[in-house]
Amino acid sequence: MSESYSIIDHTYDVVVVGAGGAGLRATFGLAEAGLKTACITKVFPTRSHTVAAQGGISASLGNMGPDDWRWHMYDTIKGSDWLGDQDAIEYMVREAVPAVIELEHYGVPFSRTEEGKIYQRPFGGMTTQFGEGPPAQRTCAAADRTGHAMLHTLYQQALKNQAEFYIEYFALDLIMNDEGACVGVMAWNLDDGTIHRFRAQKVILATGGYGRAYFSATSAHTCTGDGGGMVLRAGLPAQDLEFVQFHPTGIYGAGCLITEGVRGEGGYLTNSEGERFMERYAPSAKDLASRDVVSRSMTMEINEGRGVGAEGDHIHLHIEHLDPSLIDERLPGIAESARIFAGVDVTKEPIPVIPTCHYNMGGIPTNYHGEVLTKRDGDPDAVVPGLMAVGEAACVSVHGANRLGSNSLLDLVVFGRAAAIRCKDSLTAGATQPELPKGAGDECLARLDRLRHADGEHSTASLRLEMQKAMQQHCAVFRTGESMNEGIAKLKATWEKKESIKVSDRSMIWNSDLVETLELENLMAQAMVTIVGAESRKESRGAQARDDYPDRDDENWMHHTIAWCDEKGNVKLDKRPVHMQPMTNDVQSVPPKARVY
Ligand SMILES: Cc1cc2nc3c(=O)[nH]c(=O)nc-3n(C[C@H](O)[C@H](O)[C@H](O)COP(=O)(O)OP(=O)(O)OC[C@H]3O[C@@H](n4cnc5c(N)ncnc54)[C@H](O)[C@@H]3O)c2cc1C
Repeated sequence: MSESYSIIDHTYDVVVVGAGGAGLRATFGLAEAGLKTACITKVFPTRSHTVAAQGGISASLGNMGPDDWRWHMYDTIKGSDWLGDQDAIEYMVREAVPAVIELEHYGVPFSRTEEGKIYQRPFGGMTTQFGEGPPAQRTCAAADRTGHAMLHTLYQQALKNQAEFYIEYFALDLIMNDEGACVGVMAWNLDDGTIHRFRAQKVILATGGYGRAYFSATSAHTCTGDGGGMVLRAGLPAQDLEFVQFHPTGIYGAGCLITEGVRGEGGYLTNSEGERFMERYAPSAKDLASRDVVSRSMTMEINEGRGVGAEGDHIHLHIEHLDPSLIDERLPGIAESARIFAGVDVTKEPIPVIPTCHYNMGGIPTNYHGEVLTKRDGDPDAVVPGLMAVGEAACVSVHGANRLGSNSLLDLVVFGRAAAIRCKDSLTAGATQPELPKGAGDECLARLDRLRHADGEHSTASLRLEMQKAMQQHCAVFRTGESMNEGIAKLKATWEKKESIKVSDRSMIWNSDLVETLELENLMAQAMVTIVGAESRKESRGAQARDDYPDRDDENWMHHTIAWCDEKGNVKLDKRPVHMQPMTNDVQSVPPKARVY
């Protein structure tokens, strides 16, 4: 197989796949430590989804009032609905303060207070005095463009430290040896069609989330969970994929976020009968009920046949009754998004919206050094040699069953840096590496070749749409065993159709048809693990809200799900204990309390 493709070999100490916040932080830390480092990315680094993050990054700097990392830890554990690993959470919230100050010194243009300190805003779930005090102002912001500011600064640091970039290279698969260690990664240069075989002491996956498994997602079209797909194909498990965070108002079809502020200014939702249905579900809070309640109510209306539009599959958000000057003053961005992405003039017609996939709490299991874990010989925390994961692709797990806003940007920089430190402490720069196993990458190229020449009857786009609709309808905010089983059957049918997929472009140069097919394979595996894991978890916890099991069940379900998926789409499930012990004795573990959501 390898003869028919032109292969270029490389050797690095470390190869990072992904150039979002997590990948870039790891990359320049490694380069700074003197390790020969390559960063492979399918999009230009500053186009990674991190660029879209608006709100900010959390750290208990206490610039706007008293704050303490212990309070941040408490909030994060409680927010995770006790599924977060407390040692990892302690590591993250303690490192948050130096991490943000480091970002400031690298040049992130944070907004400022009167005294010139970093400005911090309040965010949901962030409190003081272990939940007893007033809300904490903990989220450090660079206006409403924090991710943009961070990503550009991190890219500049990577260039300054002379990291080597392979831009618009699509990573295909990991290279594993017979002992189950990762020894490299295969990639395709989209620009000239060459295949690249990277040998490395460590491969770090920083490929982001897989939001695009859903019909409506706030994440970029590139968020297809390629790292998770590679890990599952390598026979390694994914963790806690059933926990997916939804935001109630993404624009129908496009998915762009419409902020909660719209309803705060007097906007309201209606169904196909023109009814303001939130009055029925939440008589006092109405349209301003919490995110999960609004999302669930909207889904209920759609499922019961009262959705709007030709297919009855979305809801209307109205602000046309508001004074146009108020819209102009307070909601100009929303008016613009609605015009561009829904073709709607908000002063005259409603915005079509739908609960929208926003973040993946689950991912590739790691410890707080970024090392990938698997279950081996009964050890649930066995390290996979040669492989690390950071950012949204990973599940450390600091977010457990539900992530607090502004804790993800923090996760990226803290664990990107932790992975670089781990490599610095455990690797020798320029150490001789063993030859790659015979035929390394052959299997990967055979898959590429098969898909490139696939001449079946189903287009990639049609199968992707089937998967996205099945996930949106059966495994979104509102879940029941019956509906999820229906969803699993639909996904299985789509999986079978994938055997006769059709790719029409056979070239190797900028073949976006083939790229999307490879991405679909990655998405499908994670969609399947998500829905099978959600169906099997007979409780409600964090983002998993089941109508048939409305309570949290600590006795039977306070553990991580780990899951394997074979090439036929069969999922095998197992458990990993939650780490209830903090990292140090400086703080006590936080025992589970009554449900908070
Ligand atoms: C609209 C929006 C707003 C948000 N706002 C906030 C916020 O205010 N605060 C907060 O904390 N969080 C926020 N989040 C969440 C947070 O931004 C993301 O979780 C985070 O940016 C993910 O970063 P990452 O580095 O893991 O991956 P990404 O930034 O998604 O980058 C992934 C990288 O992997 C590369 N890649 C992927 N697959 C391949 C492949 N096959 N080959 C080569 N390269 C590949 C891509 O090129 C890219 O460089 C928001 C998310 C969204 C979608």
